[in-house]
Amino acid sequence: MEAKLVKGLSLKALVDVEKNRVVFVESEDDLIDILLSFLTMPIGSIIRLIRDQPPVVGIGCMDNLYESVENLDVQFFRTEACKSMLLQPRNGAAAQCASLKLTIDDSEPLQYFCCESEKCTISQHKLLSHYRNAICGCGRLMSRKFDLTENKQLLLDARNRGVFVKGLARMIVSDELKIMPPGTATSFSLLSNLGLTDGSTIEERVFKIGVDQDPDFERFLKSDDHKAMLISPKVAPGFKLGNQPLGVEEYKHQQHFYYSYHIGYSYAAKLTCQETLLPSSESDSFRRTLLSVMDPKLHYMDNATSSGGFVIESTMFKVTDNLIITPISPMSGLTVLSKLKVPFSDIEERVVHVGKEEASRLLVASFVTKSALTNAFIQKYPKQE
Ligand SMILES: [Zn+2]
Repeated sequence: MEAKLVKGLSLKALVDVEKNRVVFVESEDDLIDILLSFLTMPIGSIIRLIRDQPPVVGIGCMDNLYESVENLDVQFFRTEACKSMLLQPRNGAAAQCASLKLTIDDSEPLQYFCCESEKCTISQHKLLSHYRNAICGCGRLMSRKFDLTENKQLLLDARNRGVFVKGLARMIVSDELKIMPPGTATSFSLLSNLGLTDGSTIEERVFKIGVDQDPDFERFLKSDDHKAMLISPKVAPGFKLGNQPLGVEEYKHQQHFYYSYHIGYSYAAKLTCQETLLPSSESDSFRRTLLSVMDPKLHYMDNATSSGGFVIESTMFKVTDNLIITPISPMSGLTVLSKLKVPFSDIEERVVHVGKEEASRLLVASFVTKSALTNAFIQKYPKQE
């Protein structure tokens, strides 16, 4: 894992020397923002970032799921972009996380491509792609790369410095990552809870700590939008599935303007999300076009009502109990049975319905067990006599 260390973080830690453990750390907004940003990370990024870290720890069956995607040939995906979307998913709060002092997620920054035909970009399909060589509605490649023209405001006011929490907020972080406002009583209660002081001399307090529960905490967050990014994060634009039973929401794309202009004999074409950078009206020497961002999961020949999944339709896959996914071949079922040493007489076919409840159970089982399908379905569908 490569971490971008811009500047070291200063932490004041209280350590229980006898038991060799941290009681709590007192820190400014930087560390708090880094911890809170963990809540915005897509699962695929978490798996990718931790899989090579010693000691190697898996997260239930999620590693198998990730590895299955790595091993699947790109021909099984709807578009080339689908495979990279799964292996290197975008964080819906990537713009905010880019301001963190310590960046753990080393995902590539967002890229911008337009159709190789400028005429198509300006007056025909008017498309933008975040993936190189997607195919435009006209059948040409989206191959012209642009940098986004931005007017980055200098945030000189220290109160605007924080990413999720307001700047200059000092917080206490306990060993089990509970975040709370500082205060002598807080510190004493932590000590007391850990049995480090005489309980009779310390006032006991009950903490309800969590971003969504503690209004003491809430006032340290920058806005309700920032709070929503942490407690109900959405997936990045373009990542939502049409038939996804868990009801995960998707962030909306920003507006993207393609603008071109003549200055003397020279001609330039640029891309921006900031309408304020554009002149208020068009002229002979200046044109602007509002672009639509392509759904990276859709093939250009698909119609707009297609559900746009990640894998191509009409292909059957086999999913093992520990979530290894492979395309079906006539021999694949037999191979699994022989590996598991299960006699054919003990095998029966069952049909399960996957609704929201089952999908939620499957998600939980994928995180906490090595037998996701068994845990998600067999308990609810016990063997019938
Ligand atoms: Zn085109």
